Amino acid sequence: MSFVHHAIARALPYVPKRLVWQVSRRYIAGEHIRDAYRIIQGLNQAGIKGTLDVLGEDVTTPEQVMGCRDLYLGAIRDIASQGLQTGVSIKLSELGLRFDESLCREVMESLVASAQTKGVFVRIDMEDSSVTQITLDIYRDLRQRYQRVGAVIQACLHRSSNDVAELLQQGLANIRLCKGIYLEPASIAYTAAADINQSYNRLLEQLVEGDAEYVGIATHHPDLVGFAFDLIDQTNLAKSRYEFQMLLGVAESLRAELVARGQPMRVYVPFGEHWFAYSARRLRENPHLAGHILRNLFSRG
Ligand SMILES: Cc1cc2nc3c(=O)[nH]c(=O)nc-3n(C[C@H](O)[C@H](O)[C@H](O)COP(=O)(O)OP(=O)(O)OC[C@H]3O[C@@H](n4cnc5c(N)ncnc54)[C@H](O)[C@@H]3O)c2cc1C
Repeated sequence: MSFVHHAIARALPYVPKRLVWQVSRRYIAGEHIRDAYRIIQGLNQAGIKGTLDVLGEDVTTPEQVMGCRDLYLGAIRDIASQGLQTGVSIKLSELGLRFDESLCREVMESLVASAQTKGVFVRIDMEDSSVTQITLDIYRDLRQRYQRVGAVIQACLHRSSNDVAELLQQGLANIRLCKGIYLEPASIAYTAAADINQSYNRLLEQLVEGDAEYVGIATHHPDLVGFAFDLIDQTNLAKSRYEFQMLLGVAESLRAELVARGQPMRVYVPFGEHWFAYSARRLRENPHLAGHILRNLFSRG
């Protein structure tokens, strides 16, 4: 199977964009921001919140950074004026983290400041391990001045338990907990699925028992959702302290089940003209995602 995954990932740039879109359209709102607003409105009507993500990462020029900033500033304005129940998710590499850290910090602060005044929440997505430390540092720095910003912890990384302990101790644990989508070396990360799942459950316990400010339980794995459900029940965790989070188009029946049981739910809604490059890059980084594409090609719905 792994050979097939690698083959799909390598072949993707040669597959007609139209065909790739047939598969990707389920996971991506569209090319335009209005596509994302339409999807979020539909989710909101079903009692689900959103987090809006502009696709694109690793920009290389200040002009691209400013373009991205303007998109997010416009989105924050529209979210507030249209009363959409959604936050935004931002990758620091889209704001130039890899080539100009001070520009990235400055632009990120302008976005968080604007979001703060308009009552919109900003989640800083976590990228690969080369930027884990700096991403958490920037988050901590922003939290000195703004409340409506949160970070992400990846269960695959060995360091995450220490990061969670520090954030709890500092009173800054507004955390989305996910497995981590980037392929990381075994020297710093769990690589077997069972180990990552165990780490996920341990970190969730650590966050809940450590009285985290807020936990986004970002997973579609039924066992992890089940573990979280039991933990929430046992600890009597208030609904104001957590939510489940899923990606657009993924595990929709599990999502509906959780919503029907009154669980708070948020869906990650990516959009943007760079959807093809984004899909191709994700596949190159983690060819196992090709398995999802295969499954979706052969079992629609
Ligand atoms: C709201 C949200 C935000 C995220 N933010 C980040 C982030 O900031 N940084 C980061 O590194 N990772 C992020 N991720 C991705 C995450 O790290 C995992 O790679 C991803 O969620 C798959 O892990 P899982 O826990 O769902 O379990 P898995 O065992 O991987 O998946 C369980 C089942 O869900 C389905 N599934 C899962 N992912 C997909 C997919 N992409 N397409 C189709 N079907 C799928 C499959 O049916 C699979 O069998 C985020 C995930 C979510 C839900």
